[in-house]
Amino acid sequence: KMQNQTARAELGRAGWRFLHTVLAQYPEEPSEDERETLVGFLHLFSRVYPCRECAEHFQIYLKKYPPQVSSRQTAMMWGCDVHNKVNVRLGKPVFDCAYIHELYDCGCSDGPEDPNE
Ligand code: FAD
Repeated sequence: KMQNQTARAELGRAGWRFLHTVLAQYPEEPSEDERETLVGFLHLFSRVYPCRECAEHFQIYLKKYPPQVSSRQTAMMWGCDVHNKVNVRLGKPVFDCAYIHELYDCGCSDGPEDPNE
């Protein structure tokens, strides 16, 4: 059980950053396989997330608000909404989802085109 609040907050920031960055890299037009992969990943993420209380809440959210995986845009907005629900529960300010695109650039190249990556 993770009792150290600082560690839990740090894990949370890293967890959210990873989650939002995954969603920001999700295809604009995902195949059926890519959709299933993302849904599966989100459920597995909620199963292995190392703060048990957080993981339990996240599993409830997944049931209540099924991941929207039809496009990058819907997936990112879903992630932003879920994070906002956690923000509200923790008494944190609600984030304006219009700014999400700029925030989660992974700095990675998707294809073999860029020889500098
Ligand atoms: P964070 O909420 O970690 O956000 C980090 C940064 O993301 C912000 O500074 C902002 O730039 C950006 N951001 C904020 N809101 C959004 C948004 N809606 N969409 C996109 N970007 C945004 N902690 C608990 O104490 N109890 C819990 O039950 C709990 N459940 C969690 C469940 C999950 C799945 C995760 C990943 C974390 C959970 N946490 C929980 C941790 C908590 O959400 C925070 O990560 C932690 O408290 C640190 O908060 P923070 O204020 O630094 O910002």
